[in-house]
Amino acid sequence: GPVENVTIATDLPVPEPGSDEVRLRVRAAALNYLDIWVRNGWPGIKLSLPHILGADAAGTIDALGANVRDWEIGARVAVDPTLSCGECEFCRAGWENRCTRFAILGEHVSGTFAEYITIPARNLIALPEHVSFAEAAAASLVFVTAWHSLITRGNLRPGESVLVIGAGGGVNTASIQIAKLTGCTVYAVGSTDEKLKRAQALGADAIIPRDVEGGWSRAVYQLTAKRGVDMVVDNVGGPTLNDSLRALARGGRVVTVGNTGGPKVEIDNRLVFGKHLSILGSTMGPHRDYVRVMRLLFKGKLKAVIDATYPLDEVQTAMARMEAGDLFGKAVLEL
Ligand code: ZN
Repeated sequence: GPVENVTIATDLPVPEPGSDEVRLRVRAAALNYLDIWVRNGWPGIKLSLPHILGADAAGTIDALGANVRDWEIGARVAVDPTLSCGECEFCRAGWENRCTRFAILGEHVSGTFAEYITIPARNLIALPEHVSFAEAAAASLVFVTAWHSLITRGNLRPGESVLVIGAGGGVNTASIQIAKLTGCTVYAVGSTDEKLKRAQALGADAIIPRDVEGGWSRAVYQLTAKRGVDMVVDNVGGPTLNDSLRALARGGRVVTVGNTGGPKVEIDNRLVFGKHLSILGSTMGPHRDYVRVMRLLFKGKLKAVIDATYPLDEVQTAMARMEAGDLFGKAVLEL
């Protein structure tokens, strides 16, 4: 339901960790669009209520399960938000995000907007002292998602050109930075001057207003001397996918990482075979990608973009701002 339906529960028990889990004292938890989708629900969604929202968290270890040997109480950690079985063929091959029992924290299972959560120890990464809990929480889901789509799925190479659809969202701010770090030329499409300016500050080489006359895909075509770009990162889906295909150079690929604008789309297939295009789907990322991208964050090569932090009491305000498209980067709850 609506944002007003989100309430703070004060009578939930402190959870006990299973044998391979730890209990985390959450210090920061970041909001994602996922929280809004879950809150609104979809046909067939089954949640046990009260449901705790939230995919991103960082904090300190508060208790250890019986089999957990590699961690100590009090350690500062961040949480990989992808849950997996660890046993299926995809997990064994290192593709935890393709697990047959794949889940995201806060989606089908209890999430991170809580003082204490339990989490499998294999989902943790040690958080260096110089990185704040808020930065780690803000980075986790969006950076692993962006890294996996651009680098692992999209095989982005130095010298290529990348168009990022949308400038202000968390995944987009991560994608712009990762493309720049790779040595690419980055184009960003955004809805407001303010967001476009901030995308430029993050490294976008060229910015294009979403409602530019003639359409943004034509603008990209002109900016690239009618060549098009090598990769488009599209998390809007239905309303944008055809324009994304049009903006691609011959042999280019679009990585589709979400559908904030709606899931259904009719594609002009002549574009796909005629220009030798690839459409690559990607969601979340395996643990090895999470570790890789978080280490770049810890080294200062990438940075978490935080719009604002809120106490847990103000979760409704934070969520309403996200829903209104008001944020540049992430809203973070501090607990
Ligand atoms: Zn699995």
